[in-house]
Amino acid sequence: MPWPSDSKNDGTKLYASETPIDVRFIDKEPEEYHTHFIQTEKKSVKCIGHECDHCVKGVRRDARYSILVMDMKDSVQKTLSGSAALFRKIKLTTNLMDQEESPCLRIKASGQGLKKEYTVVPIFIKKDVKSTTQLEKKEDDEVPF
Ligand SMILES: [Zn+2]
Repeated sequence: MPWPSDSKNDGTKLYASETPIDVRFIDKEPEEYHTHFIQTEKKSVKCIGHECDHCVKGVRRDARYSILVMDMKDSVQKTLSGSAALFRKIKLTTNLMDQEESPCLRIKASGQGLKKEYTVVPIFIKKDVKSTTQLEKKEDDEVPF
C-alpha cells in the first residue's frame, strides 16, 4: 500500500481544522504511519522506516493515522489523516455509538501545537442523506423535549 502524501493535497485529503468536517467512516481501522517534522523546512516528511535518514539523525518520530472516509459535504471519498490524539478521540466516540457500521462524525480542531484539542461528535442521520443542509435540519428535528 503506497504511503499517502502529506505535503500535497489533491482534494482527496482531509485534516481536522477550525472548520468542522462531517465524515462517514468507510474503513473500520486506520492505517498507522510515522512522520518526522523537519524544523529547517517547516514541514513533515514520511518516515520510510528501515534506513530512514531522519531516524538516523535522531529527529523525533510521530505516529500518524489515516483512514478512508466519505466527506459528507461533497460525497467524495477522501483520506482523513491525523495524530494519535485525534484518532484516540475518534475511537472513544465511535465506541459510544450504537451505529457500528460506517459511523458519521463531525470533527473539529482548535488550538495549536501541544494545546491542540479535538472535538469529535457523532452525527445520527439516515444513510441516504448527503448534504449538510439536510443534516442540520435533521439535527433540529432530533432536539428532545
Ligand atoms: Zn524515520
